[in-house]
Amino acid sequence: MKFLLKILITIPKRILSFVWSLIFSLIKTIVFLALIILALMYYANHSSSPVANQLSNFFETVTTVLDNSSFANPNKLGEQLAHLETDSHEHLDGARWSTNSATIYIATENSTFRSAYQEAIEAWNQTGAFHFKIVDQPGQAKIIAKDYSDPSTQAAGLANTKTNALTNRLVSVEVFLNTYYLSNPDYGYSQERIVNTAIHELGHAIGLEHDDEHDSVMQSAGSYYGIQEVDIRAVNQLYADKNEAA
Ligand SMILES: [Zn+2]
Repeated sequence: MKFLLKILITIPKRILSFVWSLIFSLIKTIVFLALIILALMYYANHSSSPVANQLSNFFETVTTVLDNSSFANPNKLGEQLAHLETDSHEHLDGARWSTNSATIYIATENSTFRSAYQEAIEAWNQTGAFHFKIVDQPGQAKIIAKDYSDPSTQAAGLANTKTNALTNRLVSVEVFLNTYYLSNPDYGYSQERIVNTAIHELGHAIGLEHDDEHDSVMQSAGSYYGIQEVDIRAVNQLYADKNEAA
């Protein structure tokens, strides 16, 4: 009887001490992880080594994704809508193709974006300032038109350009439409603005920079304009000596 009583008293005690040790080890783990992250962040911000840079980029991405998620901040969406860029584009410094034409392959399977690219190509071709030739094989194309989904950027599109540093001529270009924004009804992109975004990215593929001074398809935000006179002039200017020896 005495033995049984002893066991009855011991069991809750044991359970309590087990739970407590569990909680304590959880706290230890959290403190340990926090210390490691703090140390990594300190290293990332105070060292210029490539590893530190990568770490710094990683933390930035994590912060951006957390900031952007409507879960973290439901009011963020409205704010984002107001500031959504067409893209953030690096400077081309006058880089262009050797003549005012280039081959293009449409790689997206999404029918909305396929027809947006087709309309955009048609719009540029109609200006007569530049000619895109659609090809059937990606291997035959200088420009590849794709889509992607990326909530971590504020951009509705993207243009990656490869330039020959010696000749300052474009070698290859990849353009992207960001389905994360363009296909999301919350962002209210009409078909016309999707086409304008495609025209804008193809503008970069031609070699155009942003133009926030005029009503231009190359405005860095909004994609409210199609090709304007000022855009055609910019292409003609860029390819003024298009009959250069190839
Ligand atoms: Zn742009």
